[in-house]
Amino acid sequence: MTNKELADLMYPNVNKTVEDYEKLYPKRDLKQGAIVTRFAPSPTGFVHMGSLCSAFIGRKVANDTDGIYYLRIEDTDQKRSVENGIQGIIDDLNNFDINIDEGFVSQTEEIGNYGPYLQTNRLEIYHTYAKYLVENDMAYPCFCSSEELDEIRKEQEKKKDRLGYYGKYAKDRNLTNEKRVELIKEGKPYVLRLKSTGDFNKKIVVNDLVRGKIEFPENDIDHVLIKSDGVPVYHFAHVVDDHLMKTTHVLRGEEWLSSTPLHIELFKKFNFDIPKYAHLGLVMKVDENGSRRKLSKRKDPEAAVSYYHEQGIPVEAVKLYLMTIANSNFESWYDANKDKSIDDFKFDFKKISESGTLFDLDKLLNISRNYISRLKASEVYNQTLEYAKEYDQEFYHLLIKYKDYSIAIFNIEREQKKPRKDYERFGNIKDEVWYMYDELFDMDNLKYDWMKITDRNEIANILNIYINEYYDETDSKDEWFEKIKQLTNRLGYAANMKDYKENPDDFKGNVTDISTVIRVALTSKAQTPDLYMLLKLIGKERILKRFNKFIK
Ligand code: GLU
Repeated sequence: MTNKELADLMYPNVNKTVEDYEKLYPKRDLKQGAIVTRFAPSPTGFVHMGSLCSAFIGRKVANDTDGIYYLRIEDTDQKRSVENGIQGIIDDLNNFDINIDEGFVSQTEEIGNYGPYLQTNRLEIYHTYAKYLVENDMAYPCFCSSEELDEIRKEQEKKKDRLGYYGKYAKDRNLTNEKRVELIKEGKPYVLRLKSTGDFNKKIVVNDLVRGKIEFPENDIDHVLIKSDGVPVYHFAHVVDDHLMKTTHVLRGEEWLSSTPLHIELFKKFNFDIPKYAHLGLVMKVDENGSRRKLSKRKDPEAAVSYYHEQGIPVEAVKLYLMTIANSNFESWYDANKDKSIDDFKFDFKKISESGTLFDLDKLLNISRNYISRLKASEVYNQTLEYAKEYDQEFYHLLIKYKDYSIAIFNIEREQKKPRKDYERFGNIKDEVWYMYDELFDMDNLKYDWMKITDRNEIANILNIYINEYYDETDSKDEWFEKIKQLTNRLGYAANMKDYKENPDDFKGNVTDISTVIRVALTSKAQTPDLYMLLKLIGKERILKRFNKFIK
C-alpha cells in the first residue's frame, strides 16, 4: 500500500495541494531588507509586559525597514483562550500605539492577504501540509495510547536513557501501511508524528540574532505534529504559518530556543526558507529575598500592561522605557538626542540583552517624570483630563470647571530650563495639586504639615499682618519677596540667612519660618511649588478664607 493511499485515508477532506497554497500566498512585494514579523499570542485577553516588549521590538524593526507587522492568534490550546481574548490583546496593543498591518483588528475582524490569522481557522491548511508529509514518508500516524507512552518513559528512566519518542522507542514508526490503514479503519485514535531523520550525535548550529551561533544536537525525536483531534501543536503550526505568511524574522521568547532544531528540521523537510530567529530573554524582577524571577502576572500588578493605563503612566514614557530595556544603547542615544523620537533611533538586534532584563518600575517612573516635565501645561491638562475621565470623576469635574485655572497650576515652574518634576504620572497629579481646589481643600479634618512656629498668637499675627498690610496681588515676584522680608524683619526674624546663621540668638527665627507659616496656612503643606505663584492663583479673597480657617 502506498503512502499516498494512507495519506488519502488520513486526510479525506483535503482537496488542495501544497502547491495550491504556495500560489495563494505568493512572495511579498517588499523592498530588499524589509522585515516581516509578527505578534503571535494566545487569546488570553491581555498582554504581559514581556510580550509588550517583544511586540514593541517587532513593530519597531518592521517600521525601520518598511516591513510588515502582523497579529496572528494562536488558539490551538483551548486552555489558554478566554472569551473576547483577542479584543483584550488588541486594546492593550492599541494603548501603546502598537498598530498592526495585518491580522486581527477586533475580536472578529481581520485584515490582510495572508490569513486566516486565527489558527483554528487554518486547520485545512495544516492538514494539507500534513498530508504532504505522509505522502512523502516524512510523517506517520502513531497509535500509542498514553499508557503505552508511560511504559516507554518508565523504561527510559530505568535505563537512564534520554526521554522521548525516538529511535528504537518509536514503536509505530515501523508499522506497515497495511497495519496503519487497518487500525485507522478500526477507528483507533492516532496522532501524526514527524519521522525524524536527525542524528542526535550530530550538531546543528542555530544562528540567533540576539545570542549569535548556538550549537545543539540535531533533533531525532518523532515529535507529535497533529494531535488526535486534528489540531496542530505549536511546532507544526509555527513552521506552516510563518512560511505561508512570509515571516522573515521570528521574535519569540527564549523558552522556544531549544525547540529550534526541530523547527529547522521541519522547514528543511518542506524545503522552505528558514526565517531568522531572535529569542528574547525574560523580563524579570528581583524578589523580596533578592533572587531574580520572571515578572509574574499573578504576583506583580505591573506585569499586565493595563496597569500602566490604570496608573496614568504616559504611553510615551512606557515606550521610552521599553526601548531602554530593548536596546542597551538607546538611553545614551536619547540623552544626546533629546529632540528626536524613538522613530529616529535605529534598532539593533545585537544590542538586545541576552540574559533578559530586570524590570525597574522606579526607572520607568523616573522616565515618566522627565517626560511629563517637558510637556506644555495644556498637554498635561489634556492628558490628566483624559485619565481622570476614566478613573477619577471628582477630579475630572474640577478640571472641566476650572480649565484655565488648572492649566495655570500645571504651568507653575514648567516652561523653564529646569522644570519641576513632581508629577510622576497622570494618576498622581491630583495628589500634588489637590489643595489648589477649594472643593478638595475645604475639608474639616484637613491635616496641616509640621511648622517650627507653633504659638497660636504668633501665627495669627503673622498671617493677619501679612494679608492686611503686605500682600498685594499686583506685585512682581521681586516686590513680593521684598515684602516678605520686610515682614520678617518687622516681627523680629532674620530676613538674611547669613545674619541668622552668624547670630541665631538675635532672632526669633528666619525668613523660611515666616514663609512656611504662610505656605502651610495656604495649602496645608510645608513643601509646594513656588509660593508666589500659588498666592497669585488662589487670589486674595480665597487666601483670606484659608488663613482664617487655619487660625481657627
Ligand atoms: N503562541 C506562542 C507564544 O505565545 C508564540 C511564540 C512565537 O512567537 O512563535 O509563546
